[in-house]
Amino acid sequence: MKKWVYLFTEGNANMRELLGGKGANLAEMTNIGLPVPQGFTITTEACTQYYEDGREINDEIMGQIEEYVGKMEEITGKKFGDKENPLLVSVRSGARASMPGMMDTILNLGLNETVVNTIAEQSGNARWAWDCYRRFIQMYSDVVMEVGKKYFEELIDQMKAAKGVKQDVELTAEDLRELASQFKAEYKSKIGTDFPDDPKAQLYGAIKAVFRSWDNPRANVYRRDNDIPYSWGTAVNVQSMAFGNMGDDCGTGVAFTRDPATGAKGLFGEFLTNAQGEDVVAGVRTPMKITEMADKFPEAFKQFVEVCSILENHYRDMQDMEFTVEHGKLYMLQTRNGKRTAQAALKIACDLVDEGMRTEQEAVAMIDARNLDTLLHPQFDPAVLAKAQAIGKGLGASPGAACGKIVFTAEDAQTWKAAGEKVVLVRLETSPEDITGMKAAEGILTVRGGMTSHAAVVARGMGTCCVSGCGDIKMDEANKRFTLAGKEFHEGDYLSIDGSTGNIYDGAIPTVPATIAGEFGRVMAWADKYRQMGVRTNADTPTDAKNARALGAEGIGLCRTEHMFFDEDRIAAFREMICADTAEEREVALEKILPYQQGDFEQLYEALEGCPVTIRFLDPPLHEFVPTEEADIQKLADAQGKTVEQIKAVVTALHEVNPMMGHRGCRLAVTYPEIARMQTKAVIRAAINVQKAHPEWTVNPEIMIPLVCEIKELKYVKQIVVETADAEIAASGIDLKYQVGTMIEIPRAALTADEIATEADFFCFGTNDLTQMTFGFSRDDAGKFLNSYYDTKIFENDPFAKLDQNGVGKLMELSIKLGRPVNPRLHVGICGEHGGDPTSVEYCHDIGLDYVSCSPYRVPIARLAAAQAAIKNPRA
Ligand code: PEP
Ligand code: MG
Repeated sequence: MKKWVYLFTEGNANMRELLGGKGANLAEMTNIGLPVPQGFTITTEACTQYYEDGREINDEIMGQIEEYVGKMEEITGKKFGDKENPLLVSVRSGARASMPGMMDTILNLGLNETVVNTIAEQSGNARWAWDCYRRFIQMYSDVVMEVGKKYFEELIDQMKAAKGVKQDVELTAEDLRELASQFKAEYKSKIGTDFPDDPKAQLYGAIKAVFRSWDNPRANVYRRDNDIPYSWGTAVNVQSMAFGNMGDDCGTGVAFTRDPATGAKGLFGEFLTNAQGEDVVAGVRTPMKITEMADKFPEAFKQFVEVCSILENHYRDMQDMEFTVEHGKLYMLQTRNGKRTAQAALKIACDLVDEGMRTEQEAVAMIDARNLDTLLHPQFDPAVLAKAQAIGKGLGASPGAACGKIVFTAEDAQTWKAAGEKVVLVRLETSPEDITGMKAAEGILTVRGGMTSHAAVVARGMGTCCVSGCGDIKMDEANKRFTLAGKEFHEGDYLSIDGSTGNIYDGAIPTVPATIAGEFGRVMAWADKYRQMGVRTNADTPTDAKNARALGAEGIGLCRTEHMFFDEDRIAAFREMICADTAEEREVALEKILPYQQGDFEQLYEALEGCPVTIRFLDPPLHEFVPTEEADIQKLADAQGKTVEQIKAVVTALHEVNPMMGHRGCRLAVTYPEIARMQTKAVIRAAINVQKAHPEWTVNPEIMIPLVCEIKELKYVKQIVVETADAEIAASGIDLKYQVGTMIEIPRAALTADEIATEADFFCFGTNDLTQMTFGFSRDDAGKFLNSYYDTKIFENDPFAKLDQNGVGKLMELSIKLGRPVNPRLHVGICGEHGGDPTSVEYCHDIGLDYVSCSPYRVPIARLAAAQAAIKNPRA
């Protein structure tokens, strides 16, 4: 029989796949002799089994849970529902990868009227006992039975009003007893049955709820954002309770061994006396600093400091711990490698190397590449910032600068974002339901809550700027306004917030791009030392190219030449070219375009200082460029000496039913060879000029032909390129080398790669189109239906963002396998969006690509991801 349940004494840190992170670490802490309230872990496999069995816990698993309840009762000397010595437990989720706040937790389970009376009497603290019970009813109703929290909050508010008190802690035992009975009545009115009294029935309900929470919408979104597979499932931890809310000699806290925002070494965290864990995390009361605990609980604090050092040395990483002090005695409830900002991740990695705890490779491997994104986000323009006066200050909970219009609800954040607005979400506090709105916002500002509040933790995870706990704000959420520094702010007003300093500014402060320096530079240098793939950038303009160089790009992997025509004055010439009726008209338009192109290419070569520059020939899906506005049509008509009707007729003729599969890519060059000829001239003339100006560089343009599906197509276009280029080079009198390669972005190109490789100097996977064509999903339309695919679990990820290794990946592997033997000099890269996605980069390393190319801001992410892939799976 399979083992579905483990005591904490039966596991260890290496069992996180089976026991989840929390379970494995509770076991590990138990093994190293730390004070951990004992219990058991139900495995992640049991969760998977629960789903396989149609969301039921089968008899075999149930039997083992029963057995382990018995073992737990023996170990603790307490019994569920016992009149003398009742067992109370917490039931908490714990997946392999931590998903803070994403799944459900239930505390104080095992309580009923009898047990409350027992513990009230034993503790001599009836207020505590009834407080536990009302919390339990509230949590159980919310989490297990999905009766909204708000009904219970309303009852609490009514009770406080009736008693004339402001704080929960001012309610008496009698008030809380009354509340518990009101809560039970509320439960019955919503569910139709009595609130369960039998602790075992409560336990089974709670376990199911945790399994079920693996599939709740916010967990699904979190998994998609963090690359956590649905198939992993969550474990369930049943742990005997330690009480932080039994009186003033009790408390609970969350602490980190280093500052999760900056990475600075030293104990960092928060503590609340006479409270339970949820109070700290929910941000309902603003807690005190962990160091203040030293005065209140000197003994427990001393022990806690020791535990911190034991745990950090043991895991050789910054730890994030939850603990409780019950009557002055310390209990550890959890430890894990702490979530941290990108800035902190870099500092901690460097410090751990300097402290001799980690090797450079380990330091590189421990940084979440996706997180670096936050450092590459803009900061406030220092010149403007120097003159700005902060109007308020909260905690710098998640770094970065944000500027946008104020919104007050998560829904508004989404709606405004969809309408193209940048927004700052201002809330009293956030809760997990706000997650999609938080994602839509540039920044988040909360009135309540500390560094470990929901807003802070989630924002850090997302890399969104967050200022939390600005208590000076007088909030009026219902009327969508607040007052700060004597000024009333309304929805739509501009606000700027700094997630590093916690400063809040009235109005809009412009932002500037970030740079790589200090620890960031050091980690990047390690990454470059260990990676085996090149990293290039997709850059269409000289500004992008310079930016990407500064971020470490070693070449341009894709310059989309049609993107060089987005400027107002250029698009006119481009439209003349597309809408030309005759070859002569087209030649006239091309003559106008040539100098633009040549000038841009010269600047690209200059910016790249002799590194390779891949220039892709025109690939415009025509519908993106033909004029639709009356004024534009008129302008074009004037330029070409035609009537508006004539132009409209051309536009109509150009209309395509499936533009993404229409007259684009090299098909344009096949129909209009003069376009390829003009582009070749521009590429080669620019290269010749820059080569002459910089004899110290080797300017080596790579001309890339898009959307090839057939060898003869490539041969045809290549011949035009070679004839034109060779004539230009011969006339210049210098010896310029150039290459002609192709994108692999149509399945047929992959399937016939052995033929195509005979004509191509390089392959570059255009995985945007390759994904589109392999799935048969239009790139322009997939967004409309992919959500249903996530909801139904047909897909876990967007295949346009994360490379589909099973299908698209197979075509890539096949292309390499067919192409390299016929052309041993063939170099192979990727320039679809996937080139900047860490898991896709790892895959590219594994299948032997020479380089990845991605947008400038993702270059550091790709460098790090490539190094991590090489460290994990080095190439021979
Ligand atoms: C691609 O298809 O992956 C690609 C890089 O080209 P584009 O996105 O311009 O079609
Ligand atoms: Mg493409």
